Amino acid sequence: MISEFELIERYFTRPARTAALGIGDDCALIKAPTGLVLAITTDMLVEGTHFLADADPRRLGHKALAVNLSDLAAMGADPRWFLLALALPEANEAWLAAFAEGMFALAERHSVELIGGDTTRGLRNLCITAIGTLPPGYALRRDTAATGEDVWLSGSTGDAALGLAHLRGRVKLSADAAAYCLARLEAPDPRVALGTRLRGLAASAIDVSDGLLADVGHIAQQSKVKAEIEFEQLPRSPALAACADRALADECLLAGGDDYELVFTAPTEKRTAVEAAGAAAAVALTRIGRIVEGDPAVRLLDASGKPIAVGQTGYDHFG
Ligand code: ADP
Ligand code: MG
Repeated sequence: MISEFELIERYFTRPARTAALGIGDDCALIKAPTGLVLAITTDMLVEGTHFLADADPRRLGHKALAVNLSDLAAMGADPRWFLLALALPEANEAWLAAFAEGMFALAERHSVELIGGDTTRGLRNLCITAIGTLPPGYALRRDTAATGEDVWLSGSTGDAALGLAHLRGRVKLSADAAAYCLARLEAPDPRVALGTRLRGLAASAIDVSDGLLADVGHIAQQSKVKAEIEFEQLPRSPALAACADRALADECLLAGGDDYELVFTAPTEKRTAVEAAGAAAAVALTRIGRIVEGDPAVRLLDASGKPIAVGQTGYDHFG
C-alpha cells in the first residue's frame, strides 16, 4: 500500500503556477494580491450525509470543489486557490485517481490552483477550502437586499433533490430524466462566470444549497426585508415538470437543496444589465419575485398574489 507522502505526490501535487510556494512545505505561500480582498470559504462532504459510499469518485472530486466554487460565485469572487483535507478509510488508488481527475478537471476550467491540504485515515470526509479575490466593496453579500428590488434565480431548482429521490426509490424517473437529475446532483456546475459578472449589479446574493425558500430566507433575515416569491414564475426543468408526483416535484423545487444556483436581488433599473450578464455567462436567469416592505420572511405567492402556505422550507442539518 502506498504511503501518505506517495499518495500526495502521485495524486495531488502539480507544479505551482500562481502560488509562490505550492504543496510540499508546512504552508503554501501566496503573494497577497495588492488592492484586492480575499474571499475564503470551506465546505465539507461527509460520507453517508452528503454522498453515498458507492458514489462515483470522479463526480465526488468534481462536487467537493464545485460546492466551494459555488460559495465564491455567490460572493462574486474570482476563484484562485484551494486546499484539500481528505480523510479516507484506505488508499484505494483507482478511487484516488478518479477523484483527482474529477477535481482537477473542474479546477482547470476555473483556473484555480491546489496549494495544500491534509491527508489522514478515517471515515471518508472531503473538505475543501477555497480562496478567491474581489475588488474591495464589490462582494455580493446576504445582508444588503433592499425594498423594491427584483429577486432573480439562475437556472432552475429541484433537479438534484429529484435525482436523490430517484436514487432512494421515492420516485421512478425516465432514463433521460434520471440521467439529467443525477448529473445535477453529483456534478453541479458552479455559477462562477455569473457571480463575477454580477459585481456592481446585484445588491445581494446567495447560492442555493439548502433549498430555494430557505436560502431566500437567509437574504430576507440578514437584510431585514420581506421577499415575495411567485410560485408560477419559478423555472422548472423538463425533468421536474414531467414528474408525475407533483407534491414531490414541488417539495424539490422549493426546498430540495443541493442546487448550487444563484439567487440574487437587483434594482429594477438594472434589469437589462442583469439579463446581459446572464447571457454573457450563458446562464438562464428568471425574475422570481421582489423585495417588499415588511417582516423579514419569505412569502410564496400564487398567480393571483395570495400567499401559499409552505410546510417544510428547506433542509435543516440538525432538524
Ligand atoms: P504537515 O505535517 O506539516 O501538516 P503534511 O505532511 O500533512 O504536512 O503535508 C505535506 C504537504 O502536502 C503539505 O504541503 C500539505 O499542504 C500537502 N498536502 C497534504 N495532503 C494534501 C492533499 N490531500 N491535497 C493537497 N495537498 C496536500
Ligand atoms: Mg498534516
